[in-house]
Amino acid sequence: MSPSAAALPEILRGEGLPAFEAITPDAVSAHIPVLIAELEAELTALEQQLEAQLAAAGPLLSWSAVLDPLQRLGERLRWSWGAVSHLNGVCNSPELRQAHAGQQAAVVSFGNRAGQSQVIYRALQRLEQQHAAAAPGAAGHLDGTQQRILAAELRDMQLRGVGLSGAQQEAFNAASQELAELSTRFGNQVLDATNGWTLLLREPAEVEGLPESLRGQLAQAARAAGDTDATAEAGPWLLGLDMPRYAPFLKYSRRRDLRERVYRAHVSRASGQGEASCVGAGGDGPAPAEPLNNWPLIERILTLRGEQAQRLGYATWADVSLAAKMADSQSAVEQLLEELRAAALPVARQELDALRAIARRHEAPEADDLQPWDVSFWAEQLRQESFDLDSEALRPYFPLPRVLDGLFALCGRLFGITIEPADGEAPVWHPDVRFFRIREGAGSAAGEPIAAFYLDPYSRPGSKRGGAWMDECLVRSRRPDGTPVLPVAYLICNQSPPVGDTPSLMTFEEVETLFHEFGHGLQHMLTTVERPQAAGINNVEWDAVELPSQFMENWCYDRATLLGMARHWQSGEPLPESEFSKLQAARTFMGGSATLRQVHFSLVDLRLHSQWHPGCGQSPEQLRRALAEGTTVLAPIDEDAFLCSFGHIFAGGYAAGYYSYKWAEVLSADAFSAFEEVGLENESQIRDTGRRFRDTVLSLGGSLDPKAVFEAFRGRQPSSEALIRHSGLVAV
Ligand SMILES: [Zn+2]
Repeated sequence: MSPSAAALPEILRGEGLPAFEAITPDAVSAHIPVLIAELEAELTALEQQLEAQLAAAGPLLSWSAVLDPLQRLGERLRWSWGAVSHLNGVCNSPELRQAHAGQQAAVVSFGNRAGQSQVIYRALQRLEQQHAAAAPGAAGHLDGTQQRILAAELRDMQLRGVGLSGAQQEAFNAASQELAELSTRFGNQVLDATNGWTLLLREPAEVEGLPESLRGQLAQAARAAGDTDATAEAGPWLLGLDMPRYAPFLKYSRRRDLRERVYRAHVSRASGQGEASCVGAGGDGPAPAEPLNNWPLIERILTLRGEQAQRLGYATWADVSLAAKMADSQSAVEQLLEELRAAALPVARQELDALRAIARRHEAPEADDLQPWDVSFWAEQLRQESFDLDSEALRPYFPLPRVLDGLFALCGRLFGITIEPADGEAPVWHPDVRFFRIREGAGSAAGEPIAAFYLDPYSRPGSKRGGAWMDECLVRSRRPDGTPVLPVAYLICNQSPPVGDTPSLMTFEEVETLFHEFGHGLQHMLTTVERPQAAGINNVEWDAVELPSQFMENWCYDRATLLGMARHWQSGEPLPESEFSKLQAARTFMGGSATLRQVHFSLVDLRLHSQWHPGCGQSPEQLRRALAEGTTVLAPIDEDAFLCSFGHIFAGGYAAGYYSYKWAEVLSADAFSAFEEVGLENESQIRDTGRRFRDTVLSLGGSLDPKAVFEAFRGRQPSSEALIRHSGLVAV
């Protein structure tokens, strides 16, 4: 940063806590192009400098001549564009959205240019060669963190095709372009097929069993579609295939014929067959158009990915995916999936039997012929009979201020830190946003500040994106003068705001979400890595990054933690023991089926990206159906074309990576089991184990191989035993 940084427009300042009110749509449109132009010029200058250094057979190329300037370029873009994107997510307006969209292409294209620079690639290769030739301590030798950063940079550039040349590179770029278009088309066709099917229900008998809220939602959909008089009580009600309508309909509808109809439509979306494959079919919409068919796209995507993998020097796309992950090999992933499958299958069978049994008790005709469209319904009946957990009724026990107290106390106890309010010490983007500081040391021993975070807890429909997330505001690093930059996190949730004197009352799921995001935040904030490329969540392998977040969720089921914080906001009464038991039971309810479902998706994804190729003698669907024999308890029905709507792997970033959900859960459950082993009531041991978790998982970030980080904490490699136990898949 130049000494005149303070005089720069806010968006170009590049350091410190952003002054959000200065980042206006006009400022975005005016200053981001300036920033990009500056960065382009600096990148060109860096490339020229490196070109000259590479050509001269002179002294060694230094880390500070390559990686440091590259990091500074990237950080300036991240700081500025990060602040804009952050506001776009939490303070959206048509003007800001337009300003953001107007600059996005330039930002992406700068990233592509830097990521595909031949000169930079050669400079990185030179650093690698120098390191290989240097003895430890000698010039050119890199420390472990530097080696990890360099390896990741090289790998990412290689996966962008930078190592290719001539016809190979042209073919690679053309295939990348086509793959991007195919993914977009795949996703759009799923969306069109989902939106293209509706069913208007006019008779009260057709909505039997549906809760008031769902009937209201269906009536609202009917009003939006033109039935302006529709009401929750009198209808008509418009059913659709989107999750908010589809999932609860299957769960509550007493009309088996309608459940079957909506189920068949849902599983055949975008497959060129069935009701849901033609836009406008099945309802009162326009006449059927072209059938939406994702099958040809699936084969083309898989074929292209296979070819791309070979151009990059890998055997299959699964190998490309795993090159950047914690899992070493397909066989390591398959072994884990097999352990989970073997544990889940018998339990899933028992769960299905239990559903048949309850259907029989209710004298339902389907008891002896249970079909996929009956599962959700009978599971909900069984849940209500076994433990009727009313999540709304628990809200008064989880007022946000108490939950925060509980969360902060837990962090103090486990990690030896103090979290204190620091409202007013940082500019915020909305009056509801809070600012907190983290100090080293717990309680009266609280010392130096080590990090800070913003908490934006409440939903603001219309201007704030849904869901919850953690994002980086400032990353831990050192300024050129040696002074430290402390990490700062954005923690964003979407829970109901306070009303009058009533604080924000949270559902248990919202409490879990807060703990989850806080886990990501802890890894970002408690990092001790000084190189920003590997500090916090940076450079942590994708299948390991959910370890701290899911680890924190486990504490929501810890008796002392939960009962310590769950108190009625008016009476101060603790959460009744019976409700705690229901929360425990709900955690593992239908756990075998849920695990098996994830195993099925993971295995199909992995095998499609490793075994399938155009001449392999079977279609992707045949491959999936063969796998279904061991990974489902109710075989897919004939119309079931789940692959045609498997957007995670064909329209999103999960190709040969869907297993990551389960992989990370194994890590987080196993990490939590270290605390169970020493005894959750054994205060001094819990404290020691917590400190060890902080000093390894939370502290080392991406500076070390995640297997080594895990082993440093756990003393051994991860085991699936704890996840299997927590999922209720073993008899206790
Ligand atoms: Zn997460």
